[in-house]
Formats: sequence, structure tokens, C-alpha cells
Amino acid sequence: QTPILIVVAPDDHQRLLRALDMGVNDYLIRPIDKQELLARANTQIRRCRYTDQLRSHVQATMEMAVTDPLTGLYNRRYMESQTSALVEHAINRGKALSILALDVDHFKSVNDEHGHAVGDRVLQELASRLKQAIRNIDMVCRIGGEEFVIVLPNTSADVAAKIADRMRRSVSGTPFNAGSQSGPLTVTVSIGVAAVESASDTMESIMKRADEALYSAKRAGRNRVNSTAA
Ligand code: GH3
Ligand code: MG
Ligand code: MG
Repeated sequence: QTPILIVVAPDDHQRLLRALDMGVNDYLIRPIDKQELLARANTQIRRCRYTDQLRSHVQATMEMAVTDPLTGLYNRRYMESQTSALVEHAINRGKALSILALDVDHFKSVNDEHGHAVGDRVLQELASRLKQAIRNIDMVCRIGGEEFVIVLPNTSADVAAKIADRMRRSVSGTPFNAGSQSGPLTVTVSIGVAAVESASDTMESIMKRADEALYSAKRAGRNRVNSTAA
């Protein structure tokens, strides 16, 4: 993306044509006039800054479309658009795939007791702990308030349950420094696990089982992992 300005001898047309053909941005003919050099260089720099701005604007717009602004995790729309295809792919190739549904326990009381800003910081710290617990082919998404979905390609239900338990412990094991007056907060999560079980499975059917498993984990007392797998 670097602009190139070349200097050519007055009679070297051959070289100038070749350079233009290769894509140089501008040229100067010897002897160099200082004012002209400055003017042409400045024009190239301005143009380059402008396209850099456009490029980072496009990049930011694309990121905004797929991520959640609070945590930087993928958003629900992006997760749904990718996961359907991942499930189909797994079924067609006879590969495993698991989905975790995760919900923060009693999160309303974090907000009630420590304020919404502390709650937000808990969600950010949680997001970074979840990201640390996965491989880069896995996908962590914030699908709503304090609810997250983790998609684990090539992962059977029993391995997924182990990963989920590692996540659960990484949350409950170390209190959160979320800026609360009363010091670090103990946070726990409940996680439901479900996996591809048959060729008729879809993203929706697996998510539904993960959600059911999550709600059983809640009913059973929270801070636990529950799997629907037989
Ligand atoms: P449970 O253990 O049953 O999940 O209890 P809970 O309190 O976590 O569940 P509930 O669904 O009643 O409350 C969720 C709370 O999450 C309510 C809302 O105030 C809070 N919340 C949702 N989104 C955000 C957010 O972006 N920031 C903050 N700070 N709080 C949020
Ligand atoms: Mg919830
Ligand atoms: Mg909750």
C-alpha cells in the first residue's frame, strides 16, 4: 500500500513507461525541483492516509456486524450464521460437534448489589476467561445479556463436558476484580452440554438440548455442568 514516486532521467522514456506499467504512483524528471518534489510527495501521502482511513473504517464496520461491543465476542447473528453450516458439515462427515449453553448464576444480584458498571466488567472478564479456555477453531459468542454459547467442532459430548467443567472452574476458582467497593467478587456459571447425536440434528435441536441441560444444571443448584448426552 506504500505510494511509490520515481525519479527518471529526461530522456529515459523506456524506463518511465515500464515503471508506470508496474504501478508507480507518480514520477519526477531530473533535475529535481524541490517545490515539485514536495508537492507530489504530499499529494501521495494525503491520498495514502485517506485510503488507510477508508480501509480501517470498512474493517471496523465488518467487525461491528459480527461482534458484541461489550465483550468483543461473536454476536448471536454471527454465531447462528456459522453454526448451521458447522452442524451440517459435522453430520455429513460423521464428525463430532458439541455446543455449550452457559449462563451466569444469580447475575441480577451482581447488578443489584454492585451496580450495572461492575456487572459489565464481570461480563468482560468472563469473556476473556472463556476465550482462554478454548482452541482457536472453537467459537465463543455472547447471545444475550449474561448468556453465552460455545461451539466446539470435532468435539464429542464427553470431551465437551470436560472443557465445560474447566471453564466452570476457571470462573468459580478465582474471584473477579470488577471494581466493586467490596473487593473481588465470586462468580459462578452453569453450563449445559449437547452434541450432534443423529443425522436429523440441526443447530436448533442441539441448542435446544443444550438449553434444557443448562436449566437442569440451574435446578440442581447452579455452578455445575450438565450434559444431555446418553
Ligand atoms: P440465574 O442464576 O437463574 O441465571 O439468575 P440470574 O439473576 O442470572 O437471571 P436473570 O435472567 O433473572 O437475570 C439476568 C440479569 O442480567 C438481569 C440483567 O439485569 C442482567 N444483564 C443482562 N444484560 C446485562 C448487561 O449487558 N450488563 C449488565 N451489567 N447486566 C446485564
Ligand atoms: Mg439468563
Ligand atoms: Mg443468569
